[in-house]
Amino acid sequence: MTDFEYDFFVIGGGSGGVRAARLAAAMGKRVGIAEEFRYGGTCVIRGCVPKKLFVYASHFAEEFEDAEGYGWSVGQSRFDWKKLVANKDKEIARLEGLYRKGLGNAGAEIFDSRAELVDDHKIRILSTNQIVTADKILIAVGGKANPADAMEGHELTITSNEAFDLAELPKSILIAGGGYIAVEFANIFHGLGVETTLIYRGVEILKNFDRDLRLTLHKTMEEKGIRILCGEVINSVKRSADDRLDVITSAGKNLKVDQTMMAIGRIPNTAGLGLEAAGVDVDKAGGIVVDEHMRTSVGHIFAVGDVTNRVQLTPVAIHEAMCVIDTAFRDNPATPDHDMIATAVFSQPEIGTVGLSEDEAAGKFETLEIYSAFFRPMKHTLSGRQEKMVMKLVVNAADRRVVGAHILGPDAGELAQVLAIALKAGCTKDDFDRTMAVHPTAAEELVTMYSPSYTVVNGQRVE
Ligand code: NDP
Repeated sequence: MTDFEYDFFVIGGGSGGVRAARLAAAMGKRVGIAEEFRYGGTCVIRGCVPKKLFVYASHFAEEFEDAEGYGWSVGQSRFDWKKLVANKDKEIARLEGLYRKGLGNAGAEIFDSRAELVDDHKIRILSTNQIVTADKILIAVGGKANPADAMEGHELTITSNEAFDLAELPKSILIAGGGYIAVEFANIFHGLGVETTLIYRGVEILKNFDRDLRLTLHKTMEEKGIRILCGEVINSVKRSADDRLDVITSAGKNLKVDQTMMAIGRIPNTAGLGLEAAGVDVDKAGGIVVDEHMRTSVGHIFAVGDVTNRVQLTPVAIHEAMCVIDTAFRDNPATPDHDMIATAVFSQPEIGTVGLSEDEAAGKFETLEIYSAFFRPMKHTLSGRQEKMVMKLVVNAADRRVVGAHILGPDAGELAQVLAIALKAGCTKDDFDRTMAVHPTAAEELVTMYSPSYTVVNGQRVE
């Protein structure tokens, strides 16, 4: 027994914090956890989960269209935004309940309050002003949407937080950013019938993804009717006399829209957390600096997930939390493995990707073999939809290892998860070649691309 009231106190009840608190409590540790908003954090309450539900909702318009080619006549359809939001809220409440139940069953003490560090062992529970002490502390407070507060009229804009609960579905929306959130929400709103424009400062959306996926997705989104403006940013937003928004862009365009959503990245939630008082260092962007075992500059204080401003993905935060438990309580210092993290963008069509893009691989390896296929998925034959699917394998010619796999098309996220196992295991192109195809599937392309589409030598494409 130590002199502290808790063996482990977790600040932040999101994916990382809840997992760590639950595991430590299940080990018999005295655990406290504090959350200022709702248990489940960004992912469950206003991120991945409600987003995916909205993605499903937004798919139906195309499904109804596609059904005709298969002989179905679908009657007049109507979409009810309020019903979607209410049903989403019910599901999120159910999941939040499960998170709380898991913590309670494991024996963690749950605080519904903001908590801040007073020093390196003391935490203030703001709702009661109580100060508690803990031997070890985990900071898992996540991030928040960049509010773009230097922009004129930023207070008239929304972020993804508000997008989930708008009182009315807008008739038109302008979304700023070219990353995950901007692209996913542009597709969601378009699918729900909103006139949608995306404005992105760079040359091409989704900067860190493989070029073929970026270009094909951009083209497909435009063909569906989403307007995409690249090389431009919003200069100002003003309320117009007709209660809409007048947006002036850096290229001098005047766009009139009903909503403007900023999706220009997320920043660590570290302001006012008492980090300085506890001696916890942060980097220039406000992210908590951690070592390979998720230890902060104070050895008994750990941090995981978005607050460390490294990989902002739920499964990574959960994995890091499990490493903290090993390090702190199992005498087994563990290092999270950030290599080959598969990821999906729930655009329409979807992106699923793992490993290096062609350009990244070209910077690392002398000779690459690129295997790629652009084709119309079978489902789109009778529906008449012209959308193309892209599959691409990036192979290091020297050892034949598949160093990148990239998919654009239906269920790409599901495929990326399975491909990630193969790439993580170090599979070579020969392993792919001797794998029997599953027919008829789209994924069979992955094991039937026998000759390279082209090679890349010292960064130059060779046909
Ligand atoms: P991203 O980092 O994906 O994208 C941010 C975008 O905003 C980039 O296009 C960036 O441009 C642009 N940007 C940044 N600063 C400015 C600025 N000052 N003015 C104009 N544009 C700017 O962040 P998101 O907000 O989309 O998402 C946050 C994180 O959440 C993601 O990184 C991802 O890790 C996670 N997430 C994951 C999802 C998934 O797994 N499906 C879904 C949603 C979010 P540039 O490209 O030029 O840097």
